[in-house]
Amino acid sequence: MTIPLIDLRAQYLTIRTELVRAVEEVLDSGIYVAGRQVNLFEKEAARLTLSKYAVSTANGTDSLVLALHACGVEPGDEIITSPYTFFATAEAIARVGAVPVFADIDRKTYNLSPDHAEAQITSKTKAILPVHLFGQPADMDAFLCIAQRYHIDVIEDACQAFGAHYKGTPVGSIGRVGCVSFFPTKNLGGYGDGGIIFTDDEHVARQVRLLASHGSTERYYHEAIGYNSRLDEIQAAMLRIKLRKLEEWNRLRQKKATVYKELLQDTGITLPYTIPEVRHVYHIYLTECEKRDELASYLQQRGVATGHYYPCALHLQKACAYLGYRPGDFPAAEELSRYALALPMFPELTLAQQQYISHLIHQFMR
Ligand SMILES: *Cc1c(COP(=O)(O)O)cnc(C)c1O
Repeated sequence: MTIPLIDLRAQYLTIRTELVRAVEEVLDSGIYVAGRQVNLFEKEAARLTLSKYAVSTANGTDSLVLALHACGVEPGDEIITSPYTFFATAEAIARVGAVPVFADIDRKTYNLSPDHAEAQITSKTKAILPVHLFGQPADMDAFLCIAQRYHIDVIEDACQAFGAHYKGTPVGSIGRVGCVSFFPTKNLGGYGDGGIIFTDDEHVARQVRLLASHGSTERYYHEAIGYNSRLDEIQAAMLRIKLRKLEEWNRLRQKKATVYKELLQDTGITLPYTIPEVRHVYHIYLTECEKRDELASYLQQRGVATGHYYPCALHLQKACAYLGYRPGDFPAAEELSRYALALPMFPELTLAQQQYISHLIHQFMR
């Protein structure tokens, strides 16, 4: 048996007919950018997150870049974020000329620790950018409370957690602006790149739309130096089909997580800690094992793929050397990067596959 970390083809095959029909309709329509499909998708996505505004973009990284600009972030401003996330979170901050300021994670939830974040606030801090890592919402009450106290913004990186809830509220709609990616492996993944931002703030929505479209609202007249960052009609049409299934797929992920918990609880590997008052959507099923590399190769040799999310914390990345961090600065993030081992997780994962993975892990740990 071979089991991939994520099987995109298995999901595609369940909706192939609908997808092909939707693509054909767009091709026949003669409108490929900024048309009806994008418009409807934005409305449907906004409804799902209970947001007033949704503005689609070319990818999740652009969502972050545009959101930072729209919140008025300028060169030299400091943005506090997690050192334990995909690189794009910090890259977007640096891309707008701001300074990524890292604060350590909570060792149990793997999300940015509000206490550590608060300790990094200076007069230059413009926003906190928590990441809902691996599908589990960050401690938003704490971040909103800190933000209010220091008059700064909260910008959510919800790229890994579309469909997750924090105390009943959809993530992406809690901070001033929320950023989502439709990269193919994300919980709502397109067949190419795509992204969106959610906000209740009219000014932010307008700015993102303006900047994503060459700083222009009226054709050939430009108010600002912007970007070209658009979702196209074909992606939007396919995402509309997948959006209707997101709830079901996220529920299936939660079910797989429950099965893993039952199968693996007495193996000695650390299983994901889920905060009771949130809805975790298990974008990645991350475990910890002290013999991580040995277990990974044991599974690999027997056909089971695993992932190291993430092998190197961001403050220790070569690209971030200019920020001046050193090993030991964020002990929780650094320790996790040594033990983190993701197991296969996708809605179509079968019980037999999970039993096989569990059997191998039991065998290895004995
Ligand atoms: C995927 C991801 C991004 C970037 O999204 P892209 O669509 O790949 O640009 C940003 N932040 C996090 C946490 C992500 O997982």
